[in-house]
Formats: sequence, C-alpha cells, structure tokens
Amino acid sequence: MLHRRRPRCAAGAAVLLLSAGCGLWPLEPPQRFNGSKYLLPWPEGKIAFVGQGFIGVFEPHLAYDFVLPEGTLVLAARCGVVTRVVDLHEANCPLTQDCPNNLIAIRHGRGDFADPHYETLYLHIQKGSALVACGEQVRQGQPIARVGNVGISMAPHIHFALRRVGASNEPAHFADIDTFDGEPQFLRFYRSRNGSEPFLNNDDYCDLTFLCP
Ligand SMILES: [Zn+2]
Repeated sequence: MLHRRRPRCAAGAAVLLLSAGCGLWPLEPPQRFNGSKYLLPWPEGKIAFVGQGFIGVFEPHLAYDFVLPEGTLVLAARCGVVTRVVDLHEANCPLTQDCPNNLIAIRHGRGDFADPHYETLYLHIQKGSALVACGEQVRQGQPIARVGNVGISMAPHIHFALRRVGASNEPAHFADIDTFDGEPQFLRFYRSRNGSEPFLNNDDYCDLTFLCP
C-alpha cells in the first residue's frame, strides 16, 4: 500500500449522503488533527489555494499544489536537515513539454527502522531564491526559498510532496488544517499557522546530519 486514501464511494448518491466515510464536504464535521508534525509551508495568516490535490487532475500527482503569489516565502513544514537545493533554473513550460525545475528537499525524523526518515520536497521555487544550503539544519517555519513559476508550471505555486526516503509519496497531513485529518483538499483554500504556534512534538529529531555531495 503506497498511500492511504479515504475509501472512495462507489455506490449511488443515497449511499454517498449516508456514508460518513466518503469525506464529502460539508458532511465531515470540523476536527482538529493533533498528530501531525507538519505545518503548511508558507507564512502565518496567508491563504493558499489547492490547485491540485494528492490525486491530480492533470497528471499522476502524488503531492499538493499550493497556489501563492510569486515571491511568497516558502517555510520548512517541519524541522530537519536540507538535503538538496536547486535554484538555478528560470523558465517554465506547459505539461506537453519538459523543462528543468528548481527544488529544495528537507529530511525529517530519525533514521532507524522504527522511525524511518521522511522528506518533504518544495518544487518550482524562484530562481536564486534559496535561503538555505545543503546540509543546513532548519527549524519548522524557517524561510527556505520563495514561490516561483519554474519548470512544468502554469502559475506560481509550490508543489509540496512528502515521502519516506526511497519510497513513494504519501498523503500529507498538516496540524494547521482542521478537517479531513489535516489533508489538503482539491479546490479549497487554507490559511497557514506556520510560525504562529510552537509545535511541541516537532523537536524530536531535529539535529540530523547529512553528507551533501
Ligand atoms: Zn504539482
């Protein structure tokens, strides 16, 4: 099982309306998901639109596209160590073409079998905007780059992915989203609380090291 999804509703509308497991808004009541160690990766109080969710509409898309104004600061979703920085590209192109992308990767979590490494990836960042270097330890909420429109991209946004190192991407859950266990939903707007609240569970394994190439 590469990723956990809420079961899809296969039956008719009556079943859809009766089923609590469908996740159809507004049937699912607001809830506070407290287990996540991640916060939305842009500054407190700003609102982003989800242009694509975990199952994308334009492509296989195991990530979230957060649409934000170009130049908006991108923040670390969780503390960790930076493992990759690419910010030399400038051009963007449509899905029918291919053009190189910029990105930052941050590794989180202890590396033993019981608590494998996870990493978050932040794509399409603005050329020359990286504020961190490979090997640098970052705290949650630390600015790492700025939103850009680079690579296969039609508008400024951050493509945010979460994965266990060496495995497929997984759905991401954020402590600052109050519905759907914190998982961002396609076509909805979310306000970040990153930077507004100290996140107590977030300091477990921040002091990671990584040997950069
Ligand atoms: Zn994307």
